[in-house]
Amino acid sequence: MQAFDIIAFVHSNDEEDTFLIPSAVRRIPEFSSNDEELISSVVAGTIPSYELEGKLGDCRRAVGIRREALRRITGSSLEGLPFDGFDYASILNQCCELPIGYVQLPVGIAGPLLLDGKHYYVPMATTEGCLVASTNRGCKAIAKSGGAMSVLLRDGMTRAPVVRLPSARRAAELKAFLENPSNFETISVVFNRSSRFAKLQSIHCALAGRNIYIRFSCSTGDAMGMNMVSKGVEYVLDELKKDLLPYSLTSTSSNFCSDKKPAAVNWIEGRGKTVVCEAVIEEEVVKNVLKTNVSTLVELNVIKNLAGSAVAGSLGGFNAHAGNIVSAIFVATGRQDLAQILESSHCITMMEAVNDGQNLHVSVTMPSIEVGTVGGGTQLASQAACLDLLGVKGGSETPGENSKRLAAVVAGAVLAGELSLISALATGQLVKCHLKYNRSTKDTCKF
Ligand code: NAP
Repeated sequence: MQAFDIIAFVHSNDEEDTFLIPSAVRRIPEFSSNDEELISSVVAGTIPSYELEGKLGDCRRAVGIRREALRRITGSSLEGLPFDGFDYASILNQCCELPIGYVQLPVGIAGPLLLDGKHYYVPMATTEGCLVASTNRGCKAIAKSGGAMSVLLRDGMTRAPVVRLPSARRAAELKAFLENPSNFETISVVFNRSSRFAKLQSIHCALAGRNIYIRFSCSTGDAMGMNMVSKGVEYVLDELKKDLLPYSLTSTSSNFCSDKKPAAVNWIEGRGKTVVCEAVIEEEVVKNVLKTNVSTLVELNVIKNLAGSAVAGSLGGFNAHAGNIVSAIFVATGRQDLAQILESSHCITMMEAVNDGQNLHVSVTMPSIEVGTVGGGTQLASQAACLDLLGVKGGSETPGENSKRLAAVVAGAVLAGELSLISALATGQLVKCHLKYNRSTKDTCKF
């Protein structure tokens, strides 16, 4: 352990984050040509189309040229893929490269969701018929029963670099050093210098031979936090490299994080926000709104969400359709890292009869909801409007409050969705309603 004690955690390096591409659009004078010439050059491959925005200094014009070139190359009309009506400058160096248009998605509204004493109208972007209507029905059942309550158990984004040491013994020594509580403050000082908002919370290491996987967890204010935690990790690795790890190979990400992949580590330890949301649904509401009864729901939840998921060997999927609600809210509110729907949808749904079997206690426990209200796609006009509707747009006065509220709303909406879908299955309504909503433009289905 001697070698580790001599590390000097002095970080004077305030360099720019190398992940970030400069956001300014620079106009280069010599690249002045008419559109027809530019289109022909892109088609011929003499101008890479990714250079258009930077060189023209006009994002809309660049998209138009790229789009026309693509039309000529592929012969596809692109009719139906809209071009006008979008602010292409807003996505430059932020959200999407090489744009040719945008995809339209309808946004429905479920609610009011009565959660923690407040009413929320939940925006859901989806093309799945029934989904919003069904979630809306769940919201109605919750509201008529006095509302749902949520608890945030944990809030920490994770990143786990991998470091290779000369031997497993050296890797084990580093693990002991990093997990030693008396070293935590020193490491935190280095990590926390990377951001005004990121605060290191814990370090948890695993070994595979002489490779050490170091899972850093930190709070990230109102941001989802992937860039923030990655930046903090690089600050710490830079210090470690100076004295400790001159011969090691490292990668900032090792899959022990674990980002955008199903993994037990997120299911067990959490990632992002860990939220539990519960409600007690009255017998009359179960009967009149959900059209079923308490004992049927309890039994079906055990058979399907618990036993059925066990039979399937599920990882975090002990629910009916949490992913449906999570994805619809993510799209609407600008969580542009949509692949995080994977772990954000981890959920176990519990249903029990309470009050002598008269009422239904229902809960969802979601260990890894990854949401933010600043950064990424949250600043785009449509997505910001949806965040505003929920009252969680941008940064909050107490950093982190908005993103925690958004996570609670996600869990509350999942609770509503679970209630309604299990009820639909219990009464044999699922297929009937889907066929009505998915195959007809006229019929309505009474949820
Ligand atoms: P970000 O937009 O990269 O960072 C958040 C920025 O907002 C920081 O500059 C932060 O300040 C600032 N900020 C202002 N008010 C804040 C508040 N109230 N709370 C928190 N931050 C506040 O966003 P991110 O959430 O860290 O990362 C999300 C982005 O990471 C997405 O664009 C995603 O595509 C990308 N991503 C990156 C990786 C990776 O490996 N790096 C992986 C997956 C996704 P400070 O500068 O003081 O921190």
